[in-house]
Amino acid sequence: MSMRPTPPDIDTDLIIIGAGVSGINLASKLADTGVKFWLLGSPFESQLAKAGVLENTPLPEGTVGLKFIEEEMENLKAKQISHRSSLCTGIELTEGGYKVLTKFQNFTTKIVVIATGKKQKSLGFDGEADLFHKGISDCTVCDFPLYREKPVAIVGNHEYTIRAAKLMKQHTSPVSLLWYGSGNAPQLDGIDVFENVTNLSARGDEVLEEISFDHSSGSQVLKVRGLFVEGKPVPSLEFLSPLSLNAHEGHVQIDEEFKTSAENVYAMGDITGKTSNYEGALDHANRLFEVLKAKLGIN
Ligand SMILES: Cc1cc2nc3c(=O)[nH]c(=O)nc-3n(C[C@H](O)[C@H](O)[C@H](O)COP(=O)(O)OP(=O)(O)OC[C@H]3O[C@@H](n4cnc5c(N)ncnc54)[C@H](O)[C@@H]3O)c2cc1C
Repeated sequence: MSMRPTPPDIDTDLIIIGAGVSGINLASKLADTGVKFWLLGSPFESQLAKAGVLENTPLPEGTVGLKFIEEEMENLKAKQISHRSSLCTGIELTEGGYKVLTKFQNFTTKIVVIATGKKQKSLGFDGEADLFHKGISDCTVCDFPLYREKPVAIVGNHEYTIRAAKLMKQHTSPVSLLWYGSGNAPQLDGIDVFENVTNLSARGDEVLEEISFDHSSGSQVLKVRGLFVEGKPVPSLEFLSPLSLNAHEGHVQIDEEFKTSAENVYAMGDITGKTSNYEGALDHANRLFEVLKAKLGIN
């Protein structure tokens, strides 16, 4: 069997790792400057794509995150931005800067912008990994159409958990909310709420069939077809470990010019821990663009 040869490295001046709101917007601005750059990552994996109807943004009321991301993608295409959906799997230090690795292609670059945001963290309960995408999902907005008229549960303990439960309630019944760990659970109309959920376990031969768990007033077994894990999104920096970045609770530390502790490596958006919403991510992209303009001598 012949192996496909790895294509030669692409040499560029700047790479944006992460195609969420911040990455897309910085790319869109850089596109008008003539700077040689690449954007890496899948916009459809961004938080906004999974957010559903957006709240507290200056966008028109009722804007749906996924629709908005699709429009942003059209803009990127129109501007002919060099973009790959591949994930960055690692990074190496080179003489002239950095080598950014992906599964299919590597890039050499002088400047790196980290915009990898946050994502849903698996809870690590029994059956979660085995039944992932076989009834267990980490994106209610993406997968709710598959579970119309079917019994489902949502697990987590964040405002996004509540939002996911309300969304499911519009499309199916019964909906159970498993408020994971400690803290006061919200009371929601038409949703069965279980507090202080621990020892969650999911079972099923081919697909999810039932879940069991302990809660504040006993133990429970539920027959469900869908279980949505919707907790607090968290950052991940493991693939960047060779950079030895200063980080705090998984967030990259930056100064007022978005510089990290590694030379010519910048970070913006949720990965910095300095913002956690659409407007903040957009503001970072706008401000970092000004910093890069000055650095690269763009008019
Ligand atoms: C369910 C939910 C609902 C929300 N609702 C709202 C709301 O109503 N209003 C609001 O203002 N905000 C909301 N937010 C928050 C908002 O979406 C985020 O704060 C904002 O989108 C963050 O943008 P970002 O560019 O920093 O990161 P992200 O959106 O997290 O994008 C990061 C990108 O980096 C990519 N990536 C990660 N690792 C790699 C890698 N190794 N290589 C390449 N790419 C990588 C990801 O795939 C993703 O495309 C919501 C978030 C969630 C999860």
